[in-house]
Amino acid sequence: MQHQSGVLYVVATPIGNLADMVPRAVTVLQMVNVIACEDTRHSARLLQHFSIETPCVAYHDHSDDKRVEALLSRLQAGDDVALISDAGTPLVSDPGYRLVRRVREQGVKVVPVPGACAFVAALSAAGLPSDRFVFEGFLPAKPGARLKQLQSLSAETRTLIFYEAPHRVLDCVQDMVRAFGPEREVVLARELSKAFETIHGAPVAELARWIEADSNQQRGEIVLLVRAACGNDESLDDEVVRTMEVLLAELPLKQAAQLGAKLTGLRKNELYQWALGRQSDKS
Ligand code: SAM
Repeated sequence: MQHQSGVLYVVATPIGNLADMVPRAVTVLQMVNVIACEDTRHSARLLQHFSIETPCVAYHDHSDDKRVEALLSRLQAGDDVALISDAGTPLVSDPGYRLVRRVREQGVKVVPVPGACAFVAALSAAGLPSDRFVFEGFLPAKPGARLKQLQSLSAETRTLIFYEAPHRVLDCVQDMVRAFGPEREVVLARELSKAFETIHGAPVAELARWIEADSNQQRGEIVLLVRAACGNDESLDDEVVRTMEVLLAELPLKQAAQLGAKLTGLRKNELYQWALGRQSDKS
């Protein structure tokens, strides 16, 4: 009989509120033979809270190959392994990629246990278009490289999402003013699921002043979300713009987009977003 490999479970953990731990994550962490943690000391509190006594080993993407191979050997010998990071979903700006890649290459089953993820939580509450978005992770720490990266994203037509360190948030938002212009809407989502949770959106120059005036906004964990370069008259051809203007003069936005889509053959959502952008440009 062929030997059955174990399973690598990739387990999401809370991003600040222990009550967000999903029951399946607890069961899996109790059941596996070993937990690979980004930081064993950091995870000790979480594991203790849920009475999880499974042994832990440290795993980081900078861990040497031996660590990856040791975990792979255990999986191939039939042990189940869980991977967790300090918070949220492993591999999302967190370690795990090398391990998942390697064990999948070797035909070991990898099972995700979904749960908290900071950028998904932020997107779900920011009130920015969420049908298409780009998660950019952390921007470069060096000012020149950060501005360059932001400038390269200035025409992006999907919502942009960044993680940012608190001591860099003001500089970063000020660079966003330079890269995107003062009027672009940016939402700061800070300390999600924790006592000082704050979700605040404003034109970016105004947001920069607000952050500068209140040093509390430069603390804790932060996600920044940027409204896409809005659909403006340059993004639709003149004929479509004229059609939409006539429809919008007579109909609510949603119906105008629906009818506009039928008349022009464009996607309803594209026209809806265009009309939204036009509305916010005017307000
Ligand atoms: N793996 C995590 C996830 O699923 O979101 C992200 C880990 S990354 C090293 C840490 C960054 O995520 C923080 O610097 C911050 O940008 C963001 N983050 C984590 N927890 C957060 C929270 N409670 N509120 C806002 N942002 C958070």
